[in-house]
Amino acid sequence: MIKKKKVIDEIYIPDVGSQVETIDGKEYLITNDAMYTFFRRTKGEFSGFFLALKNEKRLLGCRCTKCGIVRVPPFLTHCPDCNFAPTEMIEVEQVGIMNSTPPITYFATSLFQHMAPYGRGRVIFKGADTAMSINLYTTTGILVPGIIKKGTEVKLIFRDERIGEMTDVFCVPTAELTHAQINKKGLQESEIDWERPQEPSLPPASEEDSNQYRKALDKMKDLIQDMNRNESARKAIAGWKRDIQVKARGGQFAIRIDDGDIRLSESALSSPDFIMVCDDINTLLDGLAYRGAITDSVINKKIWISKNMEFNTIFKLDRMARFMVRSKKA
Ligand SMILES: [Zn+2]
Repeated sequence: MIKKKKVIDEIYIPDVGSQVETIDGKEYLITNDAMYTFFRRTKGEFSGFFLALKNEKRLLGCRCTKCGIVRVPPFLTHCPDCNFAPTEMIEVEQVGIMNSTPPITYFATSLFQHMAPYGRGRVIFKGADTAMSINLYTTTGILVPGIIKKGTEVKLIFRDERIGEMTDVFCVPTAELTHAQINKKGLQESEIDWERPQEPSLPPASEEDSNQYRKALDKMKDLIQDMNRNESARKAIAGWKRDIQVKARGGQFAIRIDDGDIRLSESALSSPDFIMVCDDINTLLDGLAYRGAITDSVINKKIWISKNMEFNTIFKLDRMARFMVRSKKA
């Protein structure tokens, strides 16, 4: 069963009303209004392809009846290379090879934010002659460059809830799956273990490392206490709740975010929402102090997080740092 959802998500629908914004000492009135442009569209001759994805978890291509080229997705009913000979629908396999190294989108527009970070690349599935654009994920934690490259073998995965769109499917590297999963046709996202990311191991801490860790931790405690008292910084995490276990060379601690509150405690959480690993605690400290973005450190693999979608939380921590610096300048 598919959950009933609106084309425009509730959170994007503002309340009726107005507000005043002060810019350079002048007051400006802002009111909420709306403009509607809903439309229905047909998938036309593509319908068979999308219905096969949605109802049968099958991937279809079209084969030219003359030259035999197989195009996936089946975007041509007649082959332009063969004097427009008709094509026929055929099924192709659900394992393929990356045709290029996919770029990764970390900061998506609001339409795609719920999917980010995601890779987007072209895959040639077995049995196909052309490459299909598709979103890419990893089960090993945050998606960073290097996990999926040109030549990486990937498997087509079906969303549990499908509506007949390209977003019904995505790919993950076959290296992250079992033999049975790779061979299963119509493998669904819920059949994959997303809860066992590969946490990077930290080297043992020398006495010098431990001293550095203590120093940085004390600074971070002060900084987070300042953040907690700062109204602007608190706004960045309003309505957000996360327990983060942070592991660094020299020790571990917890950062707890709770609807505007942020606290650091030297404890091991029994069930954190996600784990953050940073070899050098100063990388995180610098980010919180607005000396370089934490999101950049994640992308550059200096900080690892156990859940891809928690990049959103990292983004909020960056905003906290930025808001606090701004409020102090004001
Ligand atoms: Zn042809």
